[in-house]
Amino acid sequence: MDFDLTQEHLMIRTMARDFAREVIRPRSLEIERSGEYPYDVIGKMAQLGMMGIPFPEEYGGSGGDWVGLHVCIEEVSWGDMTLGALLDVTTSIVAQELYVFGTEEQKRRWLVPIAEGREIGAFGLTEPNAGSDAASIETRAELRGDWYYLNGTKQFITNIGLQHASLIIVAAVTGKRANGENIISTFIVPKDAPGFFLGKRYEKIAWHGSATHEVILDDCRVPKENLLGDPQKGLAQHLSVLQTGRISIAAIAVGLAQACLEESLRYAKERVQFGRPIFEFQAVQFKLADMAVAIELARNLYLKAAWLKDQRREHTFEAAAAKLFASEMAERVASDSVQIHGGYGYMKEYLVSRIYAGAKVLQIVEGTSEVQRMIIGRILRGR
Ligand SMILES: Cc1cc2nc3c(=O)[nH]c(=O)nc-3n(C[C@H](O)[C@H](O)[C@H](O)COP(=O)(O)OP(=O)(O)OC[C@H]3O[C@@H](n4cnc5c(N)ncnc54)[C@H](O)[C@@H]3O)c2cc1C
Repeated sequence: MDFDLTQEHLMIRTMARDFAREVIRPRSLEIERSGEYPYDVIGKMAQLGMMGIPFPEEYGGSGGDWVGLHVCIEEVSWGDMTLGALLDVTTSIVAQELYVFGTEEQKRRWLVPIAEGREIGAFGLTEPNAGSDAASIETRAELRGDWYYLNGTKQFITNIGLQHASLIIVAAVTGKRANGENIISTFIVPKDAPGFFLGKRYEKIAWHGSATHEVILDDCRVPKENLLGDPQKGLAQHLSVLQTGRISIAAIAVGLAQACLEESLRYAKERVQFGRPIFEFQAVQFKLADMAVAIELARNLYLKAAWLKDQRREHTFEAAAAKLFASEMAERVASDSVQIHGGYGYMKEYLVSRIYAGAKVLQIVEGTSEVQRMIIGRILRGR
């Protein structure tokens, strides 16, 4: 058994850590306050090859693996949460779906610019009446001649509001099976397709830099070549890449919690009350000890899930467990960090307050904590 990261993973970690310290973290307050996406920072992330880490060079990637990507996501998220989410959605979900299920032509046309970081991708599953119950989506796609026409509304769509977001992978109903279940297929829908409309931008509790919008498809027309993968298995395709997204959410959670631990440790050693640094009070020190243990556990969980994926081994349990534990851990750690900072911890200029506001969403996106427990429960039933 070997717990060491490889030389390549260590190089990625050093590169991402330096970048997060020097470029991302100094911009984090401004990103959250202004709600403006830092396009220049994304440009630099692209130059460093971050968006394409797990894909072969011939498709614009860096020829690395999923452990490498997730080590990078943790470090980037340490610097700023919305940029970690960018890597999750664009690389783990959208680019992977194109890479695994796309035709050679689709990969060349759509994957390469995303893996190179020149374009950004979004994924559209959630609808006003279908969230956790993804199979009940109502968006429809109908083939008329050489074109598919899509009608429906997708909501809470991450990244689609960015200037260089080029496409959204949309799940839509294309028929019914004999047992009454929806047949769901997935489609590559370019943002400039006729009938594609960007709906309202949501006002969120945090993650203000992440442009989350509604998407309206009104007889949205895409060529039939934009069908992605097996038309009978669109939902399964989507769910398979969302499994990787869960590992990514866990890595984001660890990055946020690590940032909280470091801030809290520094603060506890500097802040003097009752004549000594508050670190010397056991009540404070125990909080920090619990944080350090929980972070280590969550990091091991996401690394193991990513490693199993690289080994092409089953990892449904590990991905769900990593997402569930890490996202709940991040909220707890952020809350304790605010507590350790006292009143200062409630002020926006303090990083821990922003992470406290931002961590909650990790328990909701890409399958809520309840959904992760359902997945784990299903596995336990079969044991
Ligand atoms: C900031 C943000 C970004 C997002 N980005 C995207 C995106 O890019 N693309 C996309 O497609 N979606 C995106 N989403 C949507 C997200 O994936 C959904 O919000 C999530 O899957 C939950 O669906 P819902 O909101 O409809 O909640 P619901 O499914 O209505 O759930 C409401 C509550 O009921 C619980 N619940 C539901 N069913 C069960 C059950 N069987 N047993 C026990 N509890 C249950 C849930 O766990 C939850 O607590 C985003 C959401 C947010 C907040």
